[in-house]
Amino acid sequence: MFRLIAFDADDTLWHNERLYTKGRDRFRRLLASYDVHDAIEEYVHQTEMRNIRYYGFGVMSFALSLIEAAIDLTHGRISSGDIGSLLDMGKEMLTADIDLFEGAEEAVAHLSAQYPLMLITKGDLLHQQAKVEQSGLAKYFRHVEVVSDKSEATYRAILSRLHLDPAHFLMVGNSLRSDILPVVRLGGWAVHIPAELSWSYEEAELPGGLHERYFEVRNLGELPGFLESLRNQA
Ligand SMILES: [Mg+2]
Repeated sequence: MFRLIAFDADDTLWHNERLYTKGRDRFRRLLASYDVHDAIEEYVHQTEMRNIRYYGFGVMSFALSLIEAAIDLTHGRISSGDIGSLLDMGKEMLTADIDLFEGAEEAVAHLSAQYPLMLITKGDLLHQQAKVEQSGLAKYFRHVEVVSDKSEATYRAILSRLHLDPAHFLMVGNSLRSDILPVVRLGGWAVHIPAELSWSYEEAELPGGLHERYFEVRNLGELPGFLESLRNQA
């Protein structure tokens, strides 16, 4: 039924969003020392959204957006020392250890014996490649794609390069916006695995007509059994 199964990486195979949550907490504490307390979260979010077109996704974009927000919210009072600490925080995030979700390696190893697997992750090329390498999971994937965004056009280009009909493609991920919606719109299939922590950007409403093309499982441990039952039904 499926000729290729693709996985998202961040918050699907390993923890990611909690680093950003910690980063936002540290930012709030930093600004409190400048007596800035209000609407910080919303301002950071708006700054990140504006900056996607310049910097794309990932830690570098986040760090630059925090610096920009700090300058704006303190009306230029932020010290160079504190800007330095935001840059240091970015480097800490870029070099943080990879912490796999429970059952991630087992699920990927199990499925790699049955299907060709692909990893599709968006963000900074250098950082995403380093994480894939450090995760120890690279050996299970026939293809690894680091993309700047996960739009319908991105998936269409990947599938057309592989001469693969979307009807034979399944994407697994935590993000309705990036992993599920564009794939089912193309005529592919998707399994949503909600993460405890997900970036608000990754939320989306799925139009009713597309519901039959995607499924939800609670965690990676359930995925192989779920696909097995799907195959038996087919
Ligand atoms: Mg993700």
